Amino acid sequence: MGEKFDVIVVGAGPAGTSCAYTAAKSGLKVLLIERGEYPGSKNVMGGILYRKQMEEIIPEFWKEAPLERPVVEQRFWFLDRESMVTSSYKGLEWGREPYNNFTVLRAKFDQWFASKAVEQGALLINETVVTECIVEDGRVTGVRTDRPDGDVYADVVVLADGVNSLLGKSLGFHKEWKPDEVALTVMEVVNLPKKVINERFNVEDNQGVSIEIFGDSTQGLLGTAFLYTNKDSLNIGVGTTLSGMIKKKLKPYHLLEHVKTHPMIKPFLEGGETAEYLAHLIPEGGYKSVPRLVGDGVMIVGDAAQFVNAIHREGSNMAMSSGKMAAETIVRAKEIGDFTERTLDHYRKELYSSFVGKDLKKYKDVTHTFEQHPQYMADYIPMVNQAANKFFTVDGSPKKQKQREIIKGFTKDKGKIAVAKDLFRAWKVMK
Ligand code: FAD
Repeated sequence: MGEKFDVIVVGAGPAGTSCAYTAAKSGLKVLLIERGEYPGSKNVMGGILYRKQMEEIIPEFWKEAPLERPVVEQRFWFLDRESMVTSSYKGLEWGREPYNNFTVLRAKFDQWFASKAVEQGALLINETVVTECIVEDGRVTGVRTDRPDGDVYADVVVLADGVNSLLGKSLGFHKEWKPDEVALTVMEVVNLPKKVINERFNVEDNQGVSIEIFGDSTQGLLGTAFLYTNKDSLNIGVGTTLSGMIKKKLKPYHLLEHVKTHPMIKPFLEGGETAEYLAHLIPEGGYKSVPRLVGDGVMIVGDAAQFVNAIHREGSNMAMSSGKMAAETIVRAKEIGDFTERTLDHYRKELYSSFVGKDLKKYKDVTHTFEQHPQYMADYIPMVNQAANKFFTVDGSPKKQKQREIIKGFTKDKGKIAVAKDLFRAWKVMK
């Protein structure tokens, strides 16, 4: 029989490493298995890391983690073909300790984070694929890997293998995700000198900007584009639900090209050199797509469990918190020597009473509603742009008349009742 551990964690992304770190810190014997050459080598993220959940695992991590810039400004752009309406918040307090969010490059960050789990005593094995879970008498007792003699055993196996969790699927915890449960996202890392970034984004060396871009950036589909500042590069990307892309017969790289050449975005990228091109799925099914989370000897965390809040662009933090909560439950299970579903279910309860479960529940109907009603992205964003244009154009027409024309602009094609219904529907799913 292969070696036995207290916990085997599959996947060294934010979820898996948080779990491995927490379990190892509590004195458990932990094996962390990663298929990539090193943690982060296969991982893709727009790049916003949330301080709060990371700090709960490693206090004051910013003093040593490889971070890019603390984000001091969050901008929202609502694009039409040749115009945009914007809103933003800039707070210099976010540029000082304890900060708020950071931009990160996952290849660097994941590697560092996994090294901290190793410092706590976890054993990390890279370049190893877990091919299946070993199940004995209905209980998961270990994993089979693609290494010779690659069976290893544990009291609990934690599946942190990301959005395409083949292991969760093979255990029957969920089916193949449907095209409206995942978003396909493509992004580029574009190198630019630090000085140029600072000038273009109106920031100083240790200040970053994150921009979420709606409307024409996804050609009216449900989704967003994003533009984030690293130290001396930018992350530019775009994602929409897979179902939307299929329906509109769009290719992801066409969508990214459309974003990069949009007249509102192009000037920010001018002179930059593409260093990396990446594509990845994001689980966006939300609350209703969360699979079974525990079984005898097994738990699912992070993207593998659909823990992403697409409205607030939060995924890495939900991954970290779920990994931590899973580890804490395993420590508890170890104390009583029971690794059955009944004991491990504590993780599910903790999760649903935390911000992860509560936020997923709050937005449980958002993705499906906006997917079924494309007018929010396709019609209203252009209308808002036209209204702003009218409002700010000084053409000698009386302001009362302008006001009437702007309101008419929103209702003339749809009718007042349809617009009122759209507003009510949006309020209902977002409230
Ligand atoms: P992952 O990060 O996907 O890690 C899974 C790991 O498991 C990988 O290292 C993989 O190699 C490994 N693995 C998989 N299968 C096996 C196997 N069989 N054997 C061994 N190893 C295996 N979230 C944010 O918070 N902020 C953002 O700005 C943001 N932007 C995003 C932009 C893009 C383009 C994308 C795609 C996602 C973004 N997200 C963002 C979401 C965020 O990246 C994820 O929610 C987060 O990475 C989930 O972490 P995870 O550990 O669950 O999964």
